[in-house]
Amino acid sequence: MLMRAVEYARPDSVADAISALSSHPNARALAGGQSLINVLKHRLAAPELLVDISDLSELRFIDVDDDGSATIGAAVTYDELDRSGALRRAHPKLCEVAATTVDQQVRCRGTIGGNACYNDPASNFPPLLVALEATMRIESAQGTRSVPAEEFFFGPFDTAVGQGELLHSIELPPLGDRGVGYSSILIAEDSWALARACAILSANGTIEQARVVLGCVAPAPRRATGVEERLQGAEATPDVVRAAAPAASEGLDPVSDVHASGEYRREMAAVVTSRALVEAIPIPI
Ligand SMILES: Cc1cc2nc3c(=O)[nH]c(=O)nc-3n(C[C@H](O)[C@H](O)[C@H](O)COP(=O)(O)OP(=O)(O)OC[C@H]3O[C@@H](n4cnc5c(N)ncnc54)[C@H](O)[C@@H]3O)c2cc1C
Repeated sequence: MLMRAVEYARPDSVADAISALSSHPNARALAGGQSLINVLKHRLAAPELLVDISDLSELRFIDVDDDGSATIGAAVTYDELDRSGALRRAHPKLCEVAATTVDQQVRCRGTIGGNACYNDPASNFPPLLVALEATMRIESAQGTRSVPAEEFFFGPFDTAVGQGELLHSIELPPLGDRGVGYSSILIAEDSWALARACAILSANGTIEQARVVLGCVAPAPRRATGVEERLQGAEATPDVVRAAAPAASEGLDPVSDVHASGEYRREMAAVVTSRALVEAIPIPI
């Protein structure tokens, strides 16, 4: 299907982009276009103005501090994440996920901010950002506000970014000596996932803190609090964390579709949780 005609603006600054977005009740930011252009071609949305933010240098930066905290501009592509040595040292899992998202064509255009703002329940980054306790910095004509990632993802294709607002950047606290695990069951190689889990563990023989976030099995990233509670104070061994993983399926009611039944997705939530937890066990130094 062909896209409907749409106005296009390419502002030179974030301030101009926000001004363009607020000038029109039906304007949309265009980042990598890897989701939005498909949406327009399928006529699932009909914005009247596209505000192209893909080349704004103000949104294309990666800052990593000595303590390992990082700030990533919303228009940084997956490929740029993958290529940042400083970010790889501070947040290796984020770079690894970027490096394995879809294919090189999509990685050269798709942006971390676009991925977060699109918020497909099967998107790669939202559960990881919640697990990493990211803070999302949103800008508008009224100023800047910060929203914890856990409160940013409302539901399918819906986030805390409102009309006239722009996701500016994503802040990540230092990882320290915590371990990170990320596991997905994919429909096919280089494709969307059916179930996904991200786990972060801090441990010193026993687990001091566990944070487990599921993707694909709920309308938005979902904390597996039952697993987290079972792991608190438990021994940090593969057998022990595996035994806690089935609690990830508790209370889930995932959708059924052409790719998998809801029941299958529910069962796979425990499988990916188990794998992510084993990967997240910190290696003693
Ligand atoms: C063949 C194919 C397979 C794919 N498979 C996967 C996959 O397995 N996993 C996965 O995670 N993704 C997948 N994607 C989607 C891809 O990751 C997209 O790049 C991503 O979903 C959107 O990022 P984008 O930069 O292209 O955003 P765009 O498509 O430009 O925008 C997406 C939405 O976010 C809004 N937006 C973008 N940036 C901002 C901002 N800074 N502030 C406010 N709103 C903003 C736009 O207005 C739009 O509504 C796939 C895409 C393709 C083409």
